[in-house]
Amino acid sequence: MLTEIYCLRCGQAYPSVGLPYCCPACGGIFDDTGTWNFSPVDADLPGIWPDLRAFGWPADWPSISLGEGNTPLVWAECCGHQVAFKCEFLNPSGSFKDRGSTALVSALAGRGISMAVEDSSGNAGASFAAYAARAGIKARVYAPASASGPKRAQIEAYGADLVLVPGPRSAAAHAVSLAAKQGATYASHAWLPFNLPGYATLAVELTRQLQQPPGAVVLPVGQGGLLLGLVRGFQSLRRAGVVASLPKVIAVQARACAPLWSLFTTGRLAADEAPTLAEGVRVTRPVRAEAVIAAVQETGGRFVLVDEADILLGRDELARRGLYVEPTSALVWSALEQTLTELPEPVVAVLTGSGLKTLPLV
Ligand SMILES: [Zn+2]
Repeated sequence: MLTEIYCLRCGQAYPSVGLPYCCPACGGIFDDTGTWNFSPVDADLPGIWPDLRAFGWPADWPSISLGEGNTPLVWAECCGHQVAFKCEFLNPSGSFKDRGSTALVSALAGRGISMAVEDSSGNAGASFAAYAARAGIKARVYAPASASGPKRAQIEAYGADLVLVPGPRSAAAHAVSLAAKQGATYASHAWLPFNLPGYATLAVELTRQLQQPPGAVVLPVGQGGLLLGLVRGFQSLRRAGVVASLPKVIAVQARACAPLWSLFTTGRLAADEAPTLAEGVRVTRPVRAEAVIAAVQETGGRFVLVDEADILLGRDELARRGLYVEPTSALVWSALEQTLTELPEPVVAVLTGSGLKTLPLV
């Protein structure tokens, strides 16, 4: 792992210095093409770091941690079934992104980067800003002007520069790519593969907490990094003989912006983008779309869509069970209603972001 990062288009190895977000030779995506062998380590490390090292993360890189991971798994009823809700919104910056950021920012620190830019609809930017602050790295975050107020305030409170970009989410991605062309280090959570092992630790944690692998995992999908890391984590556990099979993955998108659902269902990536309360999954052109589709197919899972009107209903159902999440995370409720009868137990639903990150909606 991480010694086997290559461009998926031309095969060039990841450079040994600097941190290019895409292949300098052809503009392709870098990915870790090596085998992740899960091998538990006996080390006194913070947060997810024991599991991250177990996936082969280099021991000589710094560990920039805020104590992420080890989030509660809370059982609650949905449609007469018991579902295990994984409270990723209780991570240090209030979202699952911290598992990825601890790894990504450690890679930046390991390569001596002192300033970096990132683009985000909010959660990734806030998480990146938190870990950059921890590492003493100057961060600049490009976010859509429509991003939730609390997320914007959180990014700035960590000391990052916030650049608000008018227009859709894709406009912020375009703005940051221009900054990268002018020489800024673009610490992209979408393009760089460094955060994927961080997400893989979720597979280990779920298996440990349930004392068995999940039968199914339901989660919202924007870029699909969490999904990809999670499936790779379970694949590693299967190779290590820890689990016998992969849990069925149900990937959830909002009907207003559902390119991966479209690619999975029709074979064509529809990059339509309409406003949605589920701002965290408003991604029109997911960078690793093909890999995400292949991962869902390998698990025997599928994509489901959630109508805009059902998002707040889901948020309220979860809140009435004591789980206060943001609208993006609430997508899983409708998805559970649509799929529970077809899912093998135990069923896990990942609650990705805190309800405190959105202004009162009603
Ligand atoms: Zn290339």
